[in-house]
Amino acid sequence: MSRGLRVAIDGPTGAGKGTVARMVAERLGYRYVDTGAMYRAVAWKALREGVDPDDAEGVASLVRRTRVALEPRADGLRVWCDGEDVTEAIRSVEVSAVVGRVAANPAVRRVLTEQQRQLASSGGVVMEGRDIGTVVLPDAEVKVYLEASLEERARRRYEEMRARGEGVLLEDVRELVRQDDEMARSRATAPLRRAEDAVVVDTTGRSPEEVAEEIVRLVEARAGVK
Ligand code: C5P
Repeated sequence: MSRGLRVAIDGPTGAGKGTVARMVAERLGYRYVDTGAMYRAVAWKALREGVDPDDAEGVASLVRRTRVALEPRADGLRVWCDGEDVTEAIRSVEVSAVVGRVAANPAVRRVLTEQQRQLASSGGVVMEGRDIGTVVLPDAEVKVYLEASLEERARRRYEEMRARGEGVLLEDVRELVRQDDEMARSRATAPLRRAEDAVVVDTTGRSPEEVAEEIVRLVEARAGVK
């Protein structure tokens, strides 16, 4: 029996990775891994413990004593940090504002990359992030790079935040998204870029269902299923 493929989905903030990756995993009966949530959990803990996100040594030591767990549930993925449910807390504006700096820390990337490889080691996984096809799982069987216009990505993030009751302005969210892109693309360790062998899918103006369907077809083609 096949143990399932490894599906890597990368792309910038708001390209639709989360929604699409969750749908693809559900359709295939694969495990969904949101690697951004792992970086967010470490950033959350730095804020909680008063560790300066730019203190490389302090954050490096923090990540080594932090346990992040992703628990799949029928109503979505729950994120745990040292036994505390941080699913909602990691989406706050405060965490969003510092997570890019935490994610630029090579020690944090080393620790989380290792955990992510472990999670994918038995196959049957849909993993989404910024460096999955390039660094975490360079030999993933299926690699997808999602794109969308900055305007649409900002609008999606804005709607998500409003739905959570956050009183944000679209122009501020657009600036946050733009800064996150810039930071993810320009950092020295594991910058955001498309793997050469990734299939590029532009999600502008398309529904998540449509995009998920396209990716499921790619996986089935790769697995040799008609
Ligand atoms: O995708 P999400 O917005 O939750 O990611 C949170 C942060 O973690 C972002 O700053 C993103 O650039 C970073 N990240 C990363 N590598 C990943 C996933 C996310 O650097 N594999």
